Amino acid sequence: MSSKRLETVKLTARFRLDGEVDESLFETYRSIVNELLGYAHSKGITSFKRLKSEKYHELRQKYPKLPSHFVYTACQMTCSIYKSFRKLKRKGKVKKDKPLLKKYVIMLDDHLFKLDLENWIVRISTLNGRLKFKLLHGKYHEKFKDWKVGQAWLVKRTDGIYLNVVFSKEVEIIEPRDFVGVDLNENNVTLSSPDGFVQIVTHEREIRTGYFVKRRKIQKKLKTGRRRKELLEKYGRRERNRLNDIYHKLVNKIVELSEKYGGIALEDLSNIRDSVRYSAELNGRLHRWSFLKLQSIIEYKARLKGIEVVFVNPNHTSSLCPICGRRLSPNGHRVLKCKKCGFKGDLDVIGSWNIRLKALKMWGVSVPPESPSMNPETGKLSATFASKVMKVTESQNGMG
Ligand SMILES: [Zn+2]
Repeated sequence: MSSKRLETVKLTARFRLDGEVDESLFETYRSIVNELLGYAHSKGITSFKRLKSEKYHELRQKYPKLPSHFVYTACQMTCSIYKSFRKLKRKGKVKKDKPLLKKYVIMLDDHLFKLDLENWIVRISTLNGRLKFKLLHGKYHEKFKDWKVGQAWLVKRTDGIYLNVVFSKEVEIIEPRDFVGVDLNENNVTLSSPDGFVQIVTHEREIRTGYFVKRRKIQKKLKTGRRRKELLEKYGRRERNRLNDIYHKLVNKIVELSEKYGGIALEDLSNIRDSVRYSAELNGRLHRWSFLKLQSIIEYKARLKGIEVVFVNPNHTSSLCPICGRRLSPNGHRVLKCKKCGFKGDLDVIGSWNIRLKALKMWGVSVPPESPSMNPETGKLSATFASKVMKVTESQNGMG
């Protein structure tokens, strides 16, 4: 059995460009995509090959000054927009009858842009030939210097022009010795390892509530208008930035604590859609958005360090006894008890423990007899509290 495995890690990085790209390029591209969307929709075309063979030459003749690969990527982009439109439509999640691109977004392939991260420059094809732009960058971007460049998107926003680039890197994943079970909650993340339990406090709920109150105040004070929209967007952005900052710090901690075991276990949520268990209002679980976001950060940061990440079935992770497997009964606030073996534990601790056990089983590691701490007062098995509580502190630039 080989002890190493290669895996590709993909990440999208955003750069701001220090210049302007002529608006006519964005307008031209958008009208091409919208023409293609109308055509694809009227004929029900989701295949890139078919769309390209039926429309490419016509559009090339209509826009002779436009480098040909723009038409090519417009066909690609149209297919992906149209496919997701159809999917949403089937689920009844979209009201409009036909798809329409409203934003200024251009998909670029390797013919349309050349990235030079040694000098932080990008050359982009436009209606007026190839133009050179400086990439505004931070410490976060340094790591991509030895990554492979994939496709990119040029985006025009009110505050400037951005380039989103997909980078990829091959990493070596080492055979894990054990797993750290990770239970993600709204206000904390609880980790279970062979050495005990660690709880990292995030206070995400307080932050969300704070911004919710702020938005409510704005909505009450300003009923309509541009100012209202701007303020709401500003605070929405701030909230996302703050949470992102916390997530990155949190994940750095999780990865650091997992390195010696070589494995991380998370719950697989791909089959759980809007499940009751993940509704924040009902039981303090994370929002689905936060959940997926956090998981994706854990996944790539761990893999970059050669750590294996596995996803386990989330069924019953917080309701079965980790010692004997029986169903647990409530025993006070967020505490569960096993009537068979007498085990007592905190909900989050039990969650992370069961996640770890499932990963070990999945991996074919024989589960060693657990030795949970004895509760000194009752002399019974107990995991009521995490042995160590940590806190993530915020800063201005937690990306890393
Ligand atoms: Zn039990």
